[in-house]
Amino acid sequence: MMQRNEGDILAQKPAPAERKNRLRWLATLSSVPLFGIVAAFGIAPDTTVQDIPAVTVVDHLRLPKAEPVATPTGYWREARVERGDNISRLLERLQVKDPAAMTALLTAKGVKAPRQLVPGRSAQALTTDDGQLLDFRYLAPSGNELVVKRDRDGFSISEEPADLETRVHMSTGEIDHSLFGATDAAGIPDTVAIQMADVFASEIDFHRDIRTGDRFTVVYEVSYARGEPVSSGRVLAAEFINEGKAHRAVFFQAPDGRGGYYAPDGKNLRKAFLRSPLEFSRISSGFTSRRYHPVLKEWRAHRGIDYAAPTGTRVRATADGRVEFVGRKGGYGNLIVLRHAGRVSTAYGHLSRYARGLRNGSRVSQGEIIGYVGSTGLATGPHLHYEFRVNGAQRNPLTVAMPAAEPVAPKHKAAFDVVAAEMKVRLALASGTQVASRE
Ligand SMILES: [Zn+2]
Repeated sequence: MMQRNEGDILAQKPAPAERKNRLRWLATLSSVPLFGIVAAFGIAPDTTVQDIPAVTVVDHLRLPKAEPVATPTGYWREARVERGDNISRLLERLQVKDPAAMTALLTAKGVKAPRQLVPGRSAQALTTDDGQLLDFRYLAPSGNELVVKRDRDGFSISEEPADLETRVHMSTGEIDHSLFGATDAAGIPDTVAIQMADVFASEIDFHRDIRTGDRFTVVYEVSYARGEPVSSGRVLAAEFINEGKAHRAVFFQAPDGRGGYYAPDGKNLRKAFLRSPLEFSRISSGFTSRRYHPVLKEWRAHRGIDYAAPTGTRVRATADGRVEFVGRKGGYGNLIVLRHAGRVSTAYGHLSRYARGLRNGSRVSQGEIIGYVGSTGLATGPHLHYEFRVNGAQRNPLTVAMPAAEPVAPKHKAAFDVVAAEMKVRLALASGTQVASRE
């Protein structure tokens, strides 16, 4: 029999090996000197941008390649989907020689996965010595797993949500020209980049404050099914060094189920006002190259903050409040004014349109989309004119003390401190800084 070499072959039950690797990692964290840890790090394979140091650290090592695994009934093999593959080519590489199985797969009702082959994804097959299919598994991009099993009457074919396992990733990067440029280079998914911007939304204006040389580190969850990343989840901790000032966040879920982001000392990162009224996204994340402090300079000139952004960029309420005015007003063009607690109001000018259903008196919550950037009124190009007013007079929001939400409750502080200490070590490891003390 000709043995083709392109199928990676793996153990039927990867769990024990993974567990062992995990234990090794934990042991490393707790006892071995730093160089021992660095040796275990993986460098993201797509780290191609040379002037942006970017490293992704995965705290579960990949399974080592294994020999074909013989079971009492046959052999498990694994193969990756290649560009242009169809299900029959894939099964061929898995050494399946079973026309009946092929027919069953192609004619199965309500099963989409055989037509959703994605290059790079793996599939596993258990066959007899002569290529009869006994068991076949493929994880579709939907997160559903296609399972084909031989039974007495032929084959049972099902598509079910795969068992997910959560792993923790740590990535770090340095801003060259934009946050997304740096997160792309570090292999960080957009959903994680946007979460990181949201976590620090009350501290950093990601549209105006970020600078070349700013650094960040983020610790986040990734769901895996059968060893393959399926989706990225929650940010667990992050550090953002903006113009030399370090901002840190730790996710903490209290026993009552309520979760939020806190500074390592337990202060709540959620504040009454967001720093930026623009939603952070790829479309809105243009980098401002101006070297002066944009807010203060422009503040003296016209008592508002201008955000250049493409028409249609989503504008969000910076705080909970009520709509006091929505309509056309002179040089402001299409304008929304929101009234908040403490005699503070915010104004959003030059809008192209308003959120559907927004009326005078409507209640809005922090972060809710209220309108879209435009160039109505006295505007030379599409931008948002944003004002922060106290008792009706425009003020610089940076100079007004913003109340923060409640810190970690005293009764949960001990539990929080444990989480915060662990995250501090992870952030330090990922960012490559020395861990001076390990208390
Ligand atoms: Zn303006």
